[in-house]
Amino acid sequence: MELKLYNSLTRQKQLFEPIDPQRVTMYACGPTVYNYVHIGNARPAVVFDTVYRVLKSLYPNVIYARNITDIDDKIINKSIELSQDINEITEKFSQAYFDDMQALNTLTPDHIPYATDHIPEMIDMVQKLVDKGHAYAADTQIDAENGHVLFSVPSMPNYGELSKRNLDEQEAGARVEVADYKQYAGDFVLWKPSTEAEPGWESPWGRGRPGWHLECSAMIKKHLGDTIDIHAGGHDLVFPHHENEIAQSSCANDGKTLANFWMHNGFINIDGEKMSKSLGNFRLVNDLLQQYPGEVLRYVILSAHYRSEQNFSKDLLDSAWRTLDSLYGFIRGVKPVEAQLNRSGDAFKALLDDISTPVAISELYRLAKAVNQASGDQQTALMQELKGVADILGLLQQDPEQWFTQARSDDQLSAEQVEQLIEARQQAKQDKDYAKADQVRQQLLDGGVILEDSREGTKWRRA
Ligand SMILES: [Zn+2]
Repeated sequence: MELKLYNSLTRQKQLFEPIDPQRVTMYACGPTVYNYVHIGNARPAVVFDTVYRVLKSLYPNVIYARNITDIDDKIINKSIELSQDINEITEKFSQAYFDDMQALNTLTPDHIPYATDHIPEMIDMVQKLVDKGHAYAADTQIDAENGHVLFSVPSMPNYGELSKRNLDEQEAGARVEVADYKQYAGDFVLWKPSTEAEPGWESPWGRGRPGWHLECSAMIKKHLGDTIDIHAGGHDLVFPHHENEIAQSSCANDGKTLANFWMHNGFINIDGEKMSKSLGNFRLVNDLLQQYPGEVLRYVILSAHYRSEQNFSKDLLDSAWRTLDSLYGFIRGVKPVEAQLNRSGDAFKALLDDISTPVAISELYRLAKAVNQASGDQQTALMQELKGVADILGLLQQDPEQWFTQARSDDQLSAEQVEQLIEARQQAKQDKDYAKADQVRQQLLDGGVILEDSREGTKWRRA
């Protein structure tokens, strides 16, 4: 059973071999909680949740951490803009994130560290970097506010390994406007001063707060160790965020490698265009969930390979919904069974080949169709195999009846109302009041509910 993953660090597919098979470690950069997340933020959460599920099927103990960035200039600015307390903002949007992620059926990571709970660890790391000559406190003569501590990029000869940038390129590419207190244009902030109005913590360099990159480095060290098996995140984080995480961690930890494998997911475009502020085309998960079941979003995300760019559109969502209807339709009425993962089956083999979810999903479809056509023991065996694949993909986790009876828009009848109307129709039929029975049937039809009478009783589904 060999898992191969594309490693962004070496830019090739490699055999995954954990440092300790009894304790496999994985970290994914989580959200900065000042807003509802958009579908581009949901992609890494779903993709790396699937990686987590694959790892769990291979190793007895997988430890997955995904952080919450709850101190950041974006959060401070939002708090000023809304004149609202920072804690209220971060609490509200971290909860919103958890709710969204639950709707997308992602498993809860083993650790969800909050940046503000790790300030001593961050200060400790900055101190180590200063002591080892990899960081410096900015010249207070130049830096009027004082209290900046910067990472010295030239102090690390192999800086830029992940993004494959060398120092000269960086100097040439650096913005013209470089803060005076930087010794070198590429140097980045580890610690920055806070004004009285801003949140801050006492440190050897005055009252201040951590830089974003530092947060992840400190939390990884605390919860997972100096070197981890997999570090994951969106492709947009390769530079500078991940590059700087590597620099901080490796220099603070005596040159140790931060992560053996780096996994990055591709971008999501909307109707063929990049998501951007100027186009105003962000699709918030929270909004999409008003229109679509979370499983539809999950299905859409997994229908593309995680490294490819994905184009998101209404058509794609609608067709994913129809496909899920077919899948649930195939297994409707089939007795629930225990999952049995077929480790030599095509779906699992595809997942072991750099998490090829599109192939696994097509296998899921083939199996569901086969379940539908089979009967008896053969059907049970196929259903077990199907469940094995479905569990790893985090799909088909609902009872089909529940799937078909969930409300598809806010103005539809609730399941309870539907049940009541069906009962009323039943009663009318018993009373031989056929006009009334037909009238109720029509009322249900107008509410988008289709009745299917059979010998076992009346089943219903949403149109
Ligand atoms: Zn990070």
